[in-house]
Amino acid sequence: MRIIVIGAHPDDCDQKAGGTAILLASMGHKVKFISVTNGDAGHQKDKGLSLAKRRLGEAKEAGKRFGVEYDVLNNHDGLLMPSLEVRLQVIRKIREWNSDVVMAPRPNDYHPDHRYTGILVQDAAYMVAVPNIAPEVPALKKNPVFLYFQDHFQKPNPFRPDIAIDISSVFQQKVYALDAHTSQMYEWLPWIGGYLADVPASAKDRLTWLAGTRTGRITPDVRKALEKWYGAETSSTIQHAEAFEICEYGKQPNEEMIRNIFPMLR
Ligand SMILES: [Zn+2]
Repeated sequence: MRIIVIGAHPDDCDQKAGGTAILLASMGHKVKFISVTNGDAGHQKDKGLSLAKRRLGEAKEAGKRFGVEYDVLNNHDGLLMPSLEVRLQVIRKIREWNSDVVMAPRPNDYHPDHRYTGILVQDAAYMVAVPNIAPEVPALKKNPVFLYFQDHFQKPNPFRPDIAIDISSVFQQKVYALDAHTSQMYEWLPWIGGYLADVPASAKDRLTWLAGTRTGRITPDVRKALEKWYGAETSSTIQHAEAFEICEYGKQPNEEMIRNIFPMLR
């Protein structure tokens, strides 16, 4: 299976699907992360080309730690629009990876770049199989399965966890990969969140702190999905999970196909 994960910023795929990506890559699937923007607005001091370069380096290092390829598109952070130009970029990337599965945010989110990435990927669904659109890259033979990342937004409709993956065994590796995004995990996100003073100084303390702040509790709905896929007994012991919703615009996978995409569910 070839899986492409598309986020708005260089650290979005990592947070939403990083554990699943580690597991899939270790099972022989090919996984690629794409950031649609270059992240050049995500800092309180640095900006522009200097910040974009720093974040590209962080993304490449994170990719190594996850065991995936990582591409960053050169669109400005905080200014993303669901334009035809960017839609064609997304279509080309999905085709070039010969993707069987595409993961992306839902178009309901606090951040306009996240919302528009959701729109852009929805707009690319189906079109990736239309040969007359972006003919310079051969169209896919079939529409991939499109999956949404988990989020907590309720309007107009809440996230529905169709699939939930136990990432407990690779959680520490996920945290170690997130740690590559120094500018985000230890500088920008704590600054904008008002907790910069809590960030530890030493590398070792930072990893422990990051694991604590990035734990993310398992919601009752996701726990139910874990019960469905892992059974009640196993699911009650699961500490860390990532969940996905099936998008209506892609191929609709049956249960057998879902277990082929996610061999850990077999
Ligand atoms: Zn983001």
